[in-house]
Amino acid sequence: MRTTPPELARSVLDAAPDAMIIIDAAGIIQFANRQVSAQFGYEHDEIIGHSIEQLIPERFRASHAGHRERYVGDVRVRPMGAGLELFGRRRDGSEFPVEISLSPIEDVGRTLVAAAIRDVTDRKRVEAQLAGAHQAAEAAREFADRANEGKSRFLATASHDLRQPLQTIELLNGTLRRRVTDRHAIEALSQQELAIGAMSRLLNALLDISKLESGAIRPEPTDFTVAAIFDELRMEFASIAANKGLQLEVETCQDAVYSDPSLVEQILRNLVSNAVKYTREGWVRLRCLHEAALVRIEVLDTGVGIPADHLPYIYDEFYQVDVPSNCSRDGYGLGLSIVQRLVKLLTLKLDVRSEVGKGSAFTLVLPASSSPFAPVHQEATELRLSLSRPIGEARVLLVEDNPAVRSATSLLLELEGYHVTAVASLAESLLHVRNGNGVDLLISDYHLNDGETGTQVIAALREMLGDSLRAVLTTGDTTSAIKRLPRDPYLRITSKPINAEELLTLLRALLAV
Ligand code: ADP
Repeated sequence: MRTTPPELARSVLDAAPDAMIIIDAAGIIQFANRQVSAQFGYEHDEIIGHSIEQLIPERFRASHAGHRERYVGDVRVRPMGAGLELFGRRRDGSEFPVEISLSPIEDVGRTLVAAAIRDVTDRKRVEAQLAGAHQAAEAAREFADRANEGKSRFLATASHDLRQPLQTIELLNGTLRRRVTDRHAIEALSQQELAIGAMSRLLNALLDISKLESGAIRPEPTDFTVAAIFDELRMEFASIAANKGLQLEVETCQDAVYSDPSLVEQILRNLVSNAVKYTREGWVRLRCLHEAALVRIEVLDTGVGIPADHLPYIYDEFYQVDVPSNCSRDGYGLGLSIVQRLVKLLTLKLDVRSEVGKGSAFTLVLPASSSPFAPVHQEATELRLSLSRPIGEARVLLVEDNPAVRSATSLLLELEGYHVTAVASLAESLLHVRNGNGVDLLISDYHLNDGETGTQVIAALREMLGDSLRAVLTTGDTTSAIKRLPRDPYLRITSKPINAEELLTLLRALLAV
């Protein structure tokens, strides 16, 4: 059968997936393909010669005539109702979402408009499902974020509040060890001291992790010399290494780097602590190498080493490699996970090489300082206070708002021969001095009640008694605000819980400055 061109066009249009309609300027339907009947539920002759408006929901009919006229006045190919939700109306009155694209057809002396109408019910449903899924995913993420924040807040509060009683127990243990003479009691107190130490370390690790997780730690990068950190670490680990019969070799390092000094120090402290912990004989070495724009700081040891199949996991929380039982094991598997979080926070790089039985090498890679760096040289002060009394009898003013920590500290210090006055606030400490009492050493908690801080107490008392007043700031807070406090030769900052022996050693050293 021969098909004439208009018939050919019609069969092509009938095969099209979209409903196709041609209307005249008055909106009367001149042509409709088969899909129009299928979509709208009308017989073909119920459509041809009728107004397009019967295919439009009633609420849109009134405005449609205006749209049509405007289109005929400015004909061009375009989608209809950009940004609007469009609907078709079936014969039975039901509606369905559509997309319509319009194109003008020039017929002899008149303008016709062709409309391709696509039923988008399925697409809209999928879109709605996707939006729903997206919303659900958003809600799940928000929920997880909130749960995470809640968990971090809980951990931070719990750890912080645990510090006070732990500090009290720590100091009472120190006091008892001084009083007790019974051999068994001394042994029990030594065991207790070990347990308190372990608990303090776990608490500190948990607090560090919770702070890192909650985003409370914000790096404050600056230029600083590696030597400054090396000096701190040497002082901190020299006796610990010597007690194990290890050599602690800290090489001279002239390089300056750009990062957050206290966080870098915390990374290196954990690495050196591990190196000492996992080395039975030989040495632990700290060194730095300058390579182009980078400085590599290496912590090397001749320790037990880490088997290759364990290396990928050592940064996981609570992960510990089996170590020979004669190796001291007092960690919780949190040190390196803190290190890794800090490395990530500072966007640095940490590599590890290790060989079982030979040792390990942890390498921290930092950007070298780009500005010509003149390290601040702290002049060792020559000024020596001639104390009028022996160190042990020095007059101590203790400012601490927690009653239990206050009395435990007083007890320990009095037992050592110090003359202690314990108060709870800035006002009380000022009163003590105004009443004519001398103070050789001030020990103040950082966070006092009513928003007062230990730094305010130190500043106020130094104003009255002179800048060389020895002061110790004790704090459970290790935020950068405290780390930024200006250091001076007469000030020490300690974090709670501090061990009784450490506190007494520190006081003696400070009074001897
Ligand atoms: P821990 O508190 O047990 O030291 P870390 O997270 O610091 O936990 O380290 C995880 C594990 O990696 C350790 O238990 C130890 O087995 C291993 N490790 C870390 N540093 C060293 C090292 N310098 N030498 C040998 N083993 C190490």
